[in-house]
Amino acid sequence: MILHLKQSVTAEQAAKLAVEHKAFHVISNNTQVLITGSGVKEVPAGLDAFTDQSWVFPNDMQLSARSYRSETREVRIGNVTVGGNTGNTIIISGPCSVESEEQIRESAALLKANGLTSLRGGCYKPRTSPYSFQGMGLDGLKLLAKMREEFGFTVVTEARDATHIDEIIEHADVIQVGAKAMYDQGILRACAKTQKTVLIKRGFGTTLQEFVQAAEFVLAGGNENVLLCERGIRTFETGTRFTLDLCGVEWLKHHTNLPVVLDPSHAMGYAYGVAGLTRACVALGVDGLLIEVHPNPKVAKSDASQQLNHAEFEQLLKTIQPIASSVGYQIV
Ligand code: PEP
Ligand code: MN
Repeated sequence: MILHLKQSVTAEQAAKLAVEHKAFHVISNNTQVLITGSGVKEVPAGLDAFTDQSWVFPNDMQLSARSYRSETREVRIGNVTVGGNTGNTIIISGPCSVESEEQIRESAALLKANGLTSLRGGCYKPRTSPYSFQGMGLDGLKLLAKMREEFGFTVVTEARDATHIDEIIEHADVIQVGAKAMYDQGILRACAKTQKTVLIKRGFGTTLQEFVQAAEFVLAGGNENVLLCERGIRTFETGTRFTLDLCGVEWLKHHTNLPVVLDPSHAMGYAYGVAGLTRACVALGVDGLLIEVHPNPKVAKSDASQQLNHAEFEQLLKTIQPIASSVGYQIV
C-alpha cells in the first residue's frame, strides 16, 4: 500500500511512522510517502490520522504502477527529459566497450556530427567468460568523462557490481544496471541512494513483474529517476541472440509509469537486423533506444557481431524521424 501523508506531517514524523509501521519512506513532489508491502489492504490503525490518500495494489509493483501515477514519469538523461508529455525518443549510442581514447573519440565525434547527446560505453563488462575482455575499468571511465567534458555529452555506463557505483557517479551521468546485474540488490540499493538516473536492463530470464520489482528497489529507496530497458529475453530460438519482447514493452507501457528504452542491438545480436528492428521499436512509440555503434566493428573487443559501423548508423538515423513523427514522438 502507498500512503500519502498530510502536508502537516514533517519529514521527521514521517520517518518515525515508517519505522513504527515497517514501511519505506520517500519524499516525492514535496509529499511524505510511506510504502508498505502489497499485503496491506487497509490504512493501518495509527496511520489513518496522518494519511490523506492511499492506494492498494495486487502485488509489489507499487511506486512504478500506472494505477498510482497515471502519467509516465519524467526522467532526465543529462539535458534531455523523457517521459511525461515530452514525446522524446532519445538515442543512447556508442560502442559496447570503451577500448581506447582514439576509439571513443571517434564514436563521440560521430554522435556530435549527428546532433546526438548521449554517449554510452561499457567500462566494467559483465562477460559470460572470465577470459574475454573485461573492460578498461576506471581508465575507461576517465575517457568517458573526458568526452563528456570535450563534447558536452551525457555519459551512460554500466556497474558490474556495487563497488563501481561511486566511480560511475563521479565520471558519468546515467548508471546502467545490466541484464545479469538486475537481480543484484547491492547494486540496486546503491543506485537508490543517489539521484543519478538509473537504466535497468531486463534480465533475459526475468518476468516483467520481477523486472519492475527491481525498479521498485530503487524507487522505494529514494531515487525516482529510473528507466526500464527491454533488451531481449531467451526463448527456444537460437537463430537470433535473444528475442526482443515487444509484447512486454506494451505491457510495461500499460501497467507502469516508468519510461521504457529498447535495445535492439543486444536482442538481435547481428548488425544486419539492427536497423529494421530499431524502426519497429520506434514505431511502438518509446522513450529511448540503445544502439551499439563502433568505428570498426570487426575488431571490437566485445559484441563485435551486433555493432553497426558508422555508415550503417548514419543511414539508420536518416530513416527513423518520420516513423517517430507518425506516432507522436521526436528523435532527440
Ligand atoms: C551492454 O549493454 O553492453 C550489455 C552487456 O548488455 P546486457 O546487460 O543487456 O547484456
Ligand atoms: Mn554490448
